[in-house]
Amino acid sequence: MKFADNPKQAAEFLRQAIPLMVKHSIPPNPLNYSLWYAYVSQALPELNTQMDKTLEVYGTCPNIVSEKMFREYLLKGEIENAEDIQNALLSVMGDLESSASSTAQDTEAFNEVLQDSLAALRDSSDDQSLETIIQKLAVNTETISESARQFQKKIDDAQAEINTLKEELEQTRQDATIDPLTGLFNRRVFDMELEQYSSAAKPDVSLVMVDIDFFKKFNDTYGHQMGDKVLQYVAKLVMNECPAPFLPVRFGGEEFAMLLPGQDTSASAALAEKVRLKIQSIRIKQKKTGDVISSVTASFGVARLAPGESVESLIARADASLYKAKEAGRNNVQTAD
Ligand code: GH3
Ligand code: MG
Ligand code: MG
Repeated sequence: MKFADNPKQAAEFLRQAIPLMVKHSIPPNPLNYSLWYAYVSQALPELNTQMDKTLEVYGTCPNIVSEKMFREYLLKGEIENAEDIQNALLSVMGDLESSASSTAQDTEAFNEVLQDSLAALRDSSDDQSLETIIQKLAVNTETISESARQFQKKIDDAQAEINTLKEELEQTRQDATIDPLTGLFNRRVFDMELEQYSSAAKPDVSLVMVDIDFFKKFNDTYGHQMGDKVLQYVAKLVMNECPAPFLPVRFGGEEFAMLLPGQDTSASAALAEKVRLKIQSIRIKQKKTGDVISSVTASFGVARLAPGESVESLIARADASLYKAKEAGRNNVQTAD
């Protein structure tokens, strides 16, 4: 995507974009500037349609949606391009490697032929000068063959380095947003998203806090490793019920959160109830004893963000509902007033 606007036109677009961003509580970061610049310039009608729909539903544009749109509309061409180049580079390296390896083989074969010829000459003739020339040739060929081997090694190293860099890049991208044990979004993403909703003029989002019941006892009885396995099971169930823009989060320890834009209290409580039933039916077979564990349950607290309410207050209200659920005997869903 290229913006070919002249400076005056570009400044005008930015002048229009900023108040719109403020109006819709969009964090002023470079990603959003690009997105809203594109929006006011109306250069990409599909982007405008999707943005209008998103604003209608959520009253703002959640970070997760902004990022998706940024990738889809503004970066797509660039990324595909970069990936194409990277893949082309890898394939060129592959070609180079095979040609270097055949060069080495060829020169080695050539060397053998020369050595054989030298032996034959030695047997059949005593012409010393001819033998000297051929010996020199053989030495040269050995040098060529050695340099080709070194060339191939350099290429192998470069290729390994490119692959490592590619993996590291992917890892860094994941570390910043994803909890490694469960694959859910981490607390950092949760805080960022919720902060944005909380500064929206008409927020439309609910929070469900999930806490596994008697998990300390579970760990004590079945071991920490089995505990980790349960966390992964529960996370998977939570994730399955939270397609974007819902945000499934590992809040910390044995606590999870579901941030549900566009869902009121009763819809959120219904979703919590669905997850509760699924957790309750988890069955895990113990490897050692063969016994089936069927005692995993969780409690749920639901709260809907009120206009002007702070992040801390919403979390505190959802926590208070969760506490009520624990008090009411656990394995149930409670909703804040
Ligand atoms: P309650 O029903 O009141 O929530 O009781 P609880 O035992 O679940 O609550 P408590 O806060 O006393 O204990 C939480 C336990 O969760 C303690 C800790 O061992 C366990 N836990 C936290 N993080 C992990 C983890 O990453 N892996 C495992 N296996 N256990 C964890
Ligand atoms: Mg807890
Ligand atoms: Mg617990």
